[in-house]
Amino acid sequence: LDDIPTWREENRSRTNKDDEKELTAGGGLGDKVSLYKGDITVLEVDAIVNAANTSLLGGGGVDGCIHKSAGCCLYDECHSLNGCETGKAKITCGYDLPARYVIHTVGPVARGHVGDKEIKDLTSCYKNSLDLVKEYDLRTVAFPCISTGIYGYPNEPAADIALGTVKKWIEENSDKITRVIFCVFLETDFTIYKKKMAIIFQDN
Ligand code: ADP
Repeated sequence: LDDIPTWREENRSRTNKDDEKELTAGGGLGDKVSLYKGDITVLEVDAIVNAANTSLLGGGGVDGCIHKSAGCCLYDECHSLNGCETGKAKITCGYDLPARYVIHTVGPVARGHVGDKEIKDLTSCYKNSLDLVKEYDLRTVAFPCISTGIYGYPNEPAADIALGTVKKWIEENSDKITRVIFCVFLETDFTIYKKKMAIIFQDN
């Protein structure tokens, strides 16, 4: 985690002294979030979030990568959980992962369509995952871009929900969290998050 700069640190290195003053004033949310591009399974955090399916028994994409890296004990624990509803979240150990826990959440199957139900379910994924972070007294968590792969949620509106929901939650629970990492895998998402994080977190 020490290798991943917070959003504030990243910005500070690119700004002149005046900007720096502005950025450091207030001690806002920029210290609590990071943008990381790469494989979520290598992150040494308290919990990584898995974009699972309702069976919780593994699948493709990030789910497959997490199960592969965690080993078969993860499958066994998931098997005992009796699945998970869309928008909800369940927690397991991390087993062979560097992360201590895995929070499994099930995003909506959007197939390109964003309606009220999809928005509500994706928002719930982020909120319910963060509520588990709090319940287990964890301090650092990394999220992948839930639903934007096989489930087909359009990337830009998905990022709005991810960033907006996390921001609101941190504001309400700032003493409960040290760092939320947005772990993007694709260049498209990296560009989208970078742009939006500058707007959402910079002025705090
Ligand atoms: P969903 O079924 O919820 O759409 P996917 O796993 O298909 O989940 O995709 C969710 C996001 O996870 C996509 O942006 C995909 O590129 C990304 N992803 C795939 N593998 C990894 C990984 N190892 N680490 C982080 N993100 C990943």
